Amino acid sequence: MEIYLDNAATTALDPEVIEAILPFLTTHYANPSSAHGAGRRVKETVDRARHTVAQLLGASPDEIYFTAGATEGINLALSGAIQAYDLNHVITSRIEHKAVLQTLRRHERDGDTETSFVKLDERGNVDLYHLENLLRANPRTLIALMHGNNEIGNVTDIQAIGVLARRYNAVFFTDTTQTMGKVRFDLEEADIDFLVGSAHKFHGPKGVGFVYINKKHQLKPLIYGGGQERGQRGGTENVVGIVGLAKALEVSYRNLETNQNKISKLKQYLVSKLAISGIGGICYNGESKSSENSVANVLSVSFPCLSTGSIVTKLDQVGIAGSGGSACSGGAASHVIQALATEPDKENVRFSFSKFNTFEELDHVVDAIVGIYESDPAVATGKAWKKIASWA
Ligand code: PLP
Repeated sequence: MEIYLDNAATTALDPEVIEAILPFLTTHYANPSSAHGAGRRVKETVDRARHTVAQLLGASPDEIYFTAGATEGINLALSGAIQAYDLNHVITSRIEHKAVLQTLRRHERDGDTETSFVKLDERGNVDLYHLENLLRANPRTLIALMHGNNEIGNVTDIQAIGVLARRYNAVFFTDTTQTMGKVRFDLEEADIDFLVGSAHKFHGPKGVGFVYINKKHQLKPLIYGGGQERGQRGGTENVVGIVGLAKALEVSYRNLETNQNKISKLKQYLVSKLAISGIGGICYNGESKSSENSVANVLSVSFPCLSTGSIVTKLDQVGIAGSGGSACSGGAASHVIQALATEPDKENVRFSFSKFNTFEELDHVVDAIVGIYESDPAVATGKAWKKIASWA
């Protein structure tokens, strides 16, 4: 039995997406830049996809630029804003995705910018007072703070940050890769300058995404070429990807409440099953256990170390896909976990769900985890966690 609980890494294609993209893999293969009828028809499809995305997010179609994924959109928005406005100060956090941190590091190394890291509390929440102090001291700054964290699920109050950004004349980029298709946006009303999406995180194809650039901004392109994407991003459009992205977003928002409700219940079910599993010392990283302050599909669990090997590896051996980094046996926890006040000697496992997961799968996962602890030599010799040892 294969169980996939790594949906923050990527998701399965939705059947409706497969159906939508098939004609563009077979008969509708013309280049949208070609002047003939076949090309014009494909171009109309790309335009329709742009309209769909814009409409779903309360944006205007000329604010949506298709890219090869969130990483490219992040590079375009951050580098574009720094260059366009000669910004020399950036505020970010230690728990951003590497696509943000490495892009900002590059600008710092090149001498373009200085970076300030906003304080986080012990669970990884942004300290808004500190953010305001940083903004007061450095107006006309670029803020790069994510919406939903990919490892611990924390959801940041981007509305409050947007208000601060306006007050201090800052430019606000937010990485919405993990919330796109899971939370509703109204970009016409929001104080957000740039955000991104990546289709494969919401049951669309890999290697395609978009960046929203508020219409008051004009950025320099990252990729020069044939003038596609209104000159903002050269290169023949990934038509299959763009069609799939728009369909995936449409399906996500059509069934948003039902699916997010189910996913949230899956998370709470796993928490409750682990609570009665008999394994002592389990805790949760960041806000991931909360149903209000985290994205519904991410649960970051901190397990006591096994005496040999890692839980993620042992689960993988029985066909269960999760993800994680172990600080057990001298390994290193991820940069996100290291930024939190978590116990150092734990194995952190991220389980991330989708609408395709079932409660039965989670029963199976908890049985597998219990089996792993029961067969751990330290448990057998009575050295391990009290609750487990008491079973022996
Ligand atoms: N930002 C966040 C929060 C992510 O979770 C990811 C992917 O894991 C990315 C950016 C990069 O997305 P992509 O690999 O699709 O470019």
